[in-house]
Amino acid sequence: MAVDYKLEGQVAVITGSTSGIGQALATALAEQGVNVILNGFGDPAKIEADRLAIQQKTNAAVRYHGADMTKPAEIRDLIAYAHKEFGRLDILVNNAGIQHVAPVDEYPEEKWDALIAVILSSTFHATKAAIPIMKGQGRGRIVNIASAHGLVASAFKAPYCAAKFGVVGFTKSCAVELARTGITVNAICPGYVRTPLIEAQVVDQAKTRGIPEERVIEDVILAAQPNKTFVDYSHLAGMLLYLVSDVGASATGAALSVDGGWTAN
Ligand code: NAD
Repeated sequence: MAVDYKLEGQVAVITGSTSGIGQALATALAEQGVNVILNGFGDPAKIEADRLAIQQKTNAAVRYHGADMTKPAEIRDLIAYAHKEFGRLDILVNNAGIQHVAPVDEYPEEKWDALIAVILSSTFHATKAAIPIMKGQGRGRIVNIASAHGLVASAFKAPYCAAKFGVVGFTKSCAVELARTGITVNAICPGYVRTPLIEAQVVDQAKTRGIPEERVIEDVILAAQPNKTFVDYSHLAGMLLYLVSDVGASATGAALSVDGGWTAN
């Protein structure tokens, strides 16, 4: 049975959607007839080719805005652009993210600033700009892509955990505040997803440790993930579509784990 999420004609901004999870979620929304604004860094020719490919395969209108998510004025412009292009904004997915792994006493200060800006502060600035538009419509859906690291910690990832725990706290507070407005705010907390970023780590670690890639995946990357299986993009898309559709109306303020049992441990 095909589920009809009834999203056709809605408008979504997905931050950090030129790669990995963001691009997969933008595509999943476009496949439901949602007009999407892509955002993120990368080779302009590849971004344009990806934009056209999503548009052609889905018939949704797909636009791109190159806001740097560390810059509040550019973030405000991204949200205003969506509203100007389509006259509405129904869905905001705060997904842009970066990672840097190091012991906390050796952690470069500029990396801390960048990580907090891209992951945590951008979520605040984009949400702040989207709320007046969504309030005016009497409905809105804000979904923050946090992480299992928004719920439990790992060594050498203190800034990432600080940012992602912050995203979860921000999500809950906004949800309570907006509960009577028709706007829901939730966080999805994925375990490991095999994005280009992780793929490179698998290859590197296999070389460094002199072990096969399958062992790196099981023993190193997925050490904390009991099902020893990467989260598939479609598993995140399914959660997103539920949250943004009308059947997700009662889910707000939740930090939803999609992590193969990681945070149940
Ligand atoms: P990715 O590197 O494939 O994609 C990150 C996206 O963010 C890219 O489009 C990049 O251009 C964009 N970005 C980075 N800095 C930006 C900036 N300053 N302004 C605008 N865009 C910027 O990474 P991914 O693995 O797809 O991660 C997406 C999100 O999911 C991140 O928030 C990440 O923390 C989270 N996450 C990933 C995993 C995983 O296993 N891959 C697990 C849990 C959570």
